[in-house]
Amino acid sequence: MNIHEYQAKKLFRSFGIPVPVGGVARTSEEVVQQAAKLRAGTLVVKAQIHAGGRGKAGGVLTADGPEAARRHAERLLGNVLVTRQTGPEGRVVRSVLIEEGQNIEHEYYVAVMLDRATRRPVILVSPDGGMDIEEVAANTPGHLFKLGVDPLWGLRDYEARCLAAFLGFSGKRLHFCAGILQKLFTLYQSCDAALVEINPLILTTEGNLLALDAKLNLEENALFRHPDLKALEDPEERDPLEVQAERHGLNYIRLNGNIGVMVNGAGLAMATMDLIKQAGGEPANFLDVGGGADAGKIAAGFRIIMSDPKVEAIFVNIFGGILRCDLLAEGVVMATRETDVSVPLIVRLQGTNAEEGQRILQKSGLLFTVAKDLHAAAKHIAGVGYHEHSRQ
Ligand code: GDP
Ligand code: MN
Repeated sequence: MNIHEYQAKKLFRSFGIPVPVGGVARTSEEVVQQAAKLRAGTLVVKAQIHAGGRGKAGGVLTADGPEAARRHAERLLGNVLVTRQTGPEGRVVRSVLIEEGQNIEHEYYVAVMLDRATRRPVILVSPDGGMDIEEVAANTPGHLFKLGVDPLWGLRDYEARCLAAFLGFSGKRLHFCAGILQKLFTLYQSCDAALVEINPLILTTEGNLLALDAKLNLEENALFRHPDLKALEDPEERDPLEVQAERHGLNYIRLNGNIGVMVNGAGLAMATMDLIKQAGGEPANFLDVGGGADAGKIAAGFRIIMSDPKVEAIFVNIFGGILRCDLLAEGVVMATRETDVSVPLIVRLQGTNAEEGQRILQKSGLLFTVAKDLHAAAKHIAGVGYHEHSRQ
């Protein structure tokens, strides 16, 4: 789960990590109110969306006073911001952060994340922070320093100092920077974060170090331990279909392709998506209806798949284990009767009572293609999806 920059910065402050003074606003009146609380001089107006790349997309604007800040905010609020991280559809800006402007001497990059390969947190730092960090990673990887951290020890003093030295600090500032890195690591662990990133961490011309940007991604499986963090969730930033799926207890993730998939079991769902891709198709979603799927749940799943306008074909791949295929077939038939399925539908049933299930489907009079063989089914659906796609 992601949270907004202004929320992450509040959390940073509570962990002792310095951030610019500022406040969030949802209307132009609130912008003026927030600006009045800040010191006179340059202000920065920042679009609050759950995506980076705002600087290059016009989502971070400087203003010479409250009036200019209000004008900038009015241009952002309620409008769609497209950045390289939002996809072409962009995100609607519903709030802006108004901050005191900073005079930047240098921009650094700092992040803590989970490294699945080494099964421990890693801290990543670079003296080349700012809006082109992706290029640094690609072209000059030597400018990035990655250190695995023992989760039991935390980030030790000498490690933090070593990282600060790599960033080019010395003397008092090295110790101050090391302190920020340790606080960031503490925040990462205490919040059960999956990723915490400061890009840029800046050195101001006055010699202060502070987090100019803040990104925090929280591990969803640990959110039950953090009701205060869970409360920071912004439902408007979530995919509405994923919200709907969660309400029905379905494990659904929207993807970019045009083939809707409905499967029982997460492993089978992954294998099905692999097969579709192998056959040259692109899945529109991941959907695991779970072991206890009944007709109601399947209907909900169908409605969700069909609500995605990109879907041009649906592949139902069910392995009857505890759940019998005939019951599942009845569910599918019932679901397709109450939901208007206007795209080609391919159903593959295997396992307990598979034949009975297939009979039910064939008798139903609905337009199914029943597939026995998984590879043939994947090829067929990829072909359908491709065909439908190429007609546009
Ligand atoms: P992102 O592009 O979405 O990651 O947004 P950031 O918060 O990182 O801002 C992008 C860039 O805007 C930063 O790298 C800075 O160069 C610039 N910026 C942000 N705030 C200030 C500020 O107070 N003063 C100055 N001079 N530049 C700023
Ligand atoms: Mn940034």
